[in-house]
Amino acid sequence: MTTTAHTTAQAPGAADIEDAGHVDVLIIGAGVSGIGAAHHLREKFPDRTFVILDAQDNRGGTWWTHRYPGVRSDSDLFTYGYRFKPWRGPAIAAGGEILAYLDEVIDDDDLSRHIRLRHRVTAASWTAEERRWTVEVTRGDTGQQLRFTAGFLWMCQGYYNHAEPYRPQWEGTDRFQGAIVHPQSWPDDLDLTGKRVVVIGSGATAATLIPAIARQAQHVTMVQRSPSYFYAPPATNELAVTLRALNIPDEWTHEILRRQYMAQTDLLARMAVQSPDELHAFLIESVRPLLPEGFDIDRHLTPRYRPWQQRIAIVPDGDLFAALREGTASIVTDTIESFTERGVKVSSGTEIPADVVVSATGFNLSVFGDVAFTVDGEPVDFTDRVTWRGIMINGLPNMAYVFGYFRHSWTLRVDLVADLVGRLLENMRDKGATMVVPALRPEEADMRRRPWADPENFNPGYVMRSQHILFGQGDREPWTHLLEHEQEREILPAADLDDGTLVYR
Ligand SMILES: Cc1cc2nc3c(=O)[nH]c(=O)nc-3n(C[C@H](O)[C@H](O)[C@H](O)COP(=O)(O)OP(=O)(O)OC[C@H]3O[C@@H](n4cnc5c(N)ncnc54)[C@H](O)[C@@H]3O)c2cc1C
Repeated sequence: MTTTAHTTAQAPGAADIEDAGHVDVLIIGAGVSGIGAAHHLREKFPDRTFVILDAQDNRGGTWWTHRYPGVRSDSDLFTYGYRFKPWRGPAIAAGGEILAYLDEVIDDDDLSRHIRLRHRVTAASWTAEERRWTVEVTRGDTGQQLRFTAGFLWMCQGYYNHAEPYRPQWEGTDRFQGAIVHPQSWPDDLDLTGKRVVVIGSGATAATLIPAIARQAQHVTMVQRSPSYFYAPPATNELAVTLRALNIPDEWTHEILRRQYMAQTDLLARMAVQSPDELHAFLIESVRPLLPEGFDIDRHLTPRYRPWQQRIAIVPDGDLFAALREGTASIVTDTIESFTERGVKVSSGTEIPADVVVSATGFNLSVFGDVAFTVDGEPVDFTDRVTWRGIMINGLPNMAYVFGYFRHSWTLRVDLVADLVGRLLENMRDKGATMVVPALRPEEADMRRRPWADPENFNPGYVMRSQHILFGQGDREPWTHLLEHEQEREILPAADLDDGTLVYR
């Protein structure tokens, strides 16, 4: 057992809530972030007790939720993998390979006894007097209500609702005779052999799903309202092949390739800001030779935004474009007007026949896993709050969260945040403090508030739809959330934890 026995004085009417014990650190989420957080915590503080709670029935977060055909990373796994665990597979990995990698980390670190699955956290209340969080949990299998207490809360819940994908409302879905499926809840028994499939969406999900199902289906039509950027690197990294052939230790290969990919991504991120037209032209021209003759690249593959204001979809070896060339897939760029009995009708009046429609339309963003937070009895309205370095929230004591990069691999930030949280916990220990809370200094009280994401910088639909429920940023460090690894890998390790923006008690 990782929790220590603990008796909680139960509120009247709370007799059915089981006391699940006290831990030093409670991690919410058993995805890439939660597993990484637990590794670092265990390494740095072997004596601290911790537990990882996850609402799902298995570990893996995103990679457990998304098990549609062809699901894969669009980051290289040398940087998507952790700093501490060499990646031994291909640069771009299938979802199952990523789950296997996470399982190895769980085994290496003996984490499974700390992970509690089917534990949905519904509420978290901080009491300054007791210097602890009380966390309410509902078990997904039994409906049992549990209550944990914790000295520190580490939110690793990701950014979207795993149970409820974003489903735009289209007219006529009730009369459609075929099946409508969402990649977040792909039916295990869905057989697409010989079927006509429409995939609605233009992002990474559509791009990875389509080549995988085009082999089986009669035809797959991607229906998109507007195009995304694509990049088609080789699936094999030649440097990785060379280093492995030379029997270079895996740790070295991992580090060398991490640096290679970081440098490449830094360059692309810089170009996106400094010379967006050049990057735009590069991306468009790089896919042009892979397209079928006469393909209307302006209409279907030329986005209306600057590169990297949304994620660039990676198509290893151009497999999506191969499906277009082979005629097993096609793209329609138009707005869906309605569903009909036999398919979907777009604004031009064309009806696209379909037996199955896949709604690859993205996520519903969720703020801190929809956990209801209170601090000393006051409900927390996150829209009033600002971030401290994209890691803590002003006025929320003993709580850190992980939010990875969008342009670089998410996991690069998991390691950086964990280093900073480790320093923070050390700092608390050294000061004999049991509480740390970000607080605006008097001179920052009326600083300009900015939205969580600047639409000029990053503006995918799921963020823009939900900005109004998100916390914000200030106009200066440390009240900002920087999106670039190139900056943060210098700034976060050097961040001053005694600059007066963190109050220790
Ligand atoms: C198909 C797909 C491909 C992607 N590919 C890449 C890629 O190549 N590179 C990249 O950088 N990023 C990619 N991403 C983004 C991806 O989400 C992150 O890389 C990363 O997986 C997020 O990990 P996480 O652990 O922070 O969150 P998640 O993977 O979202 O896991 C969070 C976990 O927390 C649990 N949880 C949430 N709320 C609660 C609660 N209240 N109580 C209990 N448990 C809760 C959830 O059930 C979930 O299991 C991809 C996303 C998708 C959907």
